[in-house]
Amino acid sequence: MDLDLKGKVAVITGGSVGIGLAVAEEFAREGVHLALCARQEDRLNQVAEDLGAKYGVTVLGVPVDVSVAADIENFVGRIEKEFGGADILVNNAGTGSNETIMDAPDEKWQHFWNLHVMAAVRMARGLVPSMRKRGGGAILNNASICATQPLWYEPIYNVTKAALVMLSKNMAHEFIKDNIRVNTVNAGLVLTPDWFNTATELTADTDQTPQDYLDGIAEEHAAIKRFASPAEIASLIVFLASPRASYSVGSTYYIDGGMLKVIT
Ligand code: NDP
Repeated sequence: MDLDLKGKVAVITGGSVGIGLAVAEEFAREGVHLALCARQEDRLNQVAEDLGAKYGVTVLGVPVDVSVAADIENFVGRIEKEFGGADILVNNAGTGSNETIMDAPDEKWQHFWNLHVMAAVRMARGLVPSMRKRGGGAILNNASICATQPLWYEPIYNVTKAALVMLSKNMAHEFIKDNIRVNTVNAGLVLTPDWFNTATELTADTDQTPQDYLDGIAEEHAAIKRFASPAEIASLIVFLASPRASYSVGSTYYIDGGMLKVIT
């Protein structure tokens, strides 16, 4: 299927590893130019160089902490300068948490609110004007199955991802008049470094290895009994960003190997 994306410009937050990197690579394969951001500059620059060389597209890498408003302003300015705007935005940067409601300080809630919700608001405020000028666009918000079916060790993650899903719905309603389609992807278990970090943290004072923990999680939660690869999630995100998904507006797509236990 021709996704009709060649020559477009896609912005991916957290594009240097994991799902974001897989999305970047899938877009690059389709001939899409990229603007990527992440905090660790060395890894980001390497990815930008590698993808540009491999696929012959322009790849801009900008060091950004998406939880910081000024960083996003700078990122948007760099995108304007390099490409004159963007056609596609994937709000992907994010991470899990580990706390109890009783012990977590306000600052932690505020940080995750900025990371998972305000980052998407600020990226949209920055890029929607250029999408409008270009005749439309697509925004994909990478939330999580945890927005609907929580993992109990990470209430702040669950709550802020649920807020992102609702933000996405509201964005979809507000932006469709400008031919900008907004949708959400809620993935289940995806084998990325973030999961290894979580597994290491949760098994630190136990006799389990991180790998035992991951195998147990897949066995317990996913009907398919394995984690997804980042590429499996990227295929759906890139399809939804393409004109082939032209009637998809304001929806939430689960991709979870049978992990979701309810109908939506
Ligand atoms: P990874 O840790 O593998 O990658 C996260 C990416 O985001 C990296 O590029 C990282 O780079 C960047 N990043 C993290 N924090 C920030 C920040 N504050 N500012 C800018 N960039 C940032 O994570 P995943 O690929 O696993 O997760 C990607 C998204 O998918 C997240 O939103 C996550 O919640 C969601 N998700 C993941 C699932 C999974 O099982 N893995 C399941 C469902 C949803 P750097 O560290 O250099 O900033």
